[in-house]
Amino acid sequence: MTEQFERIFGAVPAGVWAAPGRVNLIGEHTDYNDGFVLPIALPQAVSVAARPRTDGRLRLYSAQGDDVVTDLPVDALAPGVVTGWAGYPAGVVWALRAAGHPVGGADLYFGSDVPTGAGLSSSAALECATAVALRDLYRLDLPPAELALLAQRAENRFVGVPCGVMDQMASACCTEGAALFLDTRELSHRQVPFRPAEQGLVLLVIDTRVKHDLGDGAYAALRAGCERAAALLGLAALRDLDAAGLPAALDRLPTELGPLVRHVVSENERVLRAVALLDKGEFAELGPILTAGHASLRDDFEVSCAETDLAVETAVAAGALGARMTGGGFGGSVVALVPRESADAVAQAVGAAFAAAGHTAPVVFEARAAAGARRVV
Ligand code: ADP
Ligand code: MG
Repeated sequence: MTEQFERIFGAVPAGVWAAPGRVNLIGEHTDYNDGFVLPIALPQAVSVAARPRTDGRLRLYSAQGDDVVTDLPVDALAPGVVTGWAGYPAGVVWALRAAGHPVGGADLYFGSDVPTGAGLSSSAALECATAVALRDLYRLDLPPAELALLAQRAENRFVGVPCGVMDQMASACCTEGAALFLDTRELSHRQVPFRPAEQGLVLLVIDTRVKHDLGDGAYAALRAGCERAAALLGLAALRDLDAAGLPAALDRLPTELGPLVRHVVSENERVLRAVALLDKGEFAELGPILTAGHASLRDDFEVSCAETDLAVETAVAAGALGARMTGGGFGGSVVALVPRESADAVAQAVGAAFAAAGHTAPVVFEARAAAGARRVV
């Protein structure tokens, strides 16, 4: 990172920072309904070598970007001004400054091993890497949860993606060996030990290689549907409905909104059940919760696709204790909880099933719960 920084910017960086991608164990499409989520940070991260600049210029280069240095005056940053990948880090600088943080110019060189558009949250990793680097370069008093909110604001307001806060909270606040149990209404969170290897289990991530595009309006439509249902029920958010109140609520809603509400209510309950199991160390019991979550995303929320359904079905048939798509949907990745001795068989079975169906070969890797955004050099 240091050498590449010097090659591009002709100077020595002040340090190197990293922020991870994430997989969500359970709690999908709950974060914009004020609900619960349970992500882990991945070992894969966006790294950034950085130094401050005194001339108020922001220079950005990514090894995974467009092979040009984007050079912008920080004073001129405003939503709509920056297009393409540079909008994510530029948006973070804008959000920090708009919140009153004294951030000036910087040179930032990004390198990453988080696959983009795979549902593993490379965008939040890019934002949070930028934010931790600027926090330290400009000695900002910026606790991780506040950093996450500003990163989300950058993505919402500057890039124009109406994402919830889970991805940025995971990238900023996760710790090694733990899942982050997050209440997205209160932003209260707790580290829940997640070391499946201690019980002979592995968490496989299956990247289906189907690129989702959350900008295509489908996500916004789902979000709007959930908000309309809450308003019709007189609730601040669907978080305020529980399983006991569900049948009466469904009677009051137009039929097209019922399945959305059923997913959100049942998914919040699955998160709470998952946390209770992990607290007791009963990791294997998590499997059926994952699979039930997938069925709900497939049948009620209707955000799965042929590839994610095939990966889940094949993984379970080949010995996984449970599996589900993770991330916003329309492709992306699947997580599967698998006894270690079955991990190779599951990976092979999924690869074979994809080949037989004519799908692009999936990429399978084992996920460990890694640390959140941090300085590394
Ligand atoms: P996800 O967050 O699931 O990976 P998104 O569509 O939210 O998918 O974000 C992907 C986008 O983030 C990419 O299209 C690119 O603009 C940007 N991005 C992520 N990582 C990098 C990187 N290392 N370098 C440049 N751009 C990146
Ligand atoms: Mg993203």
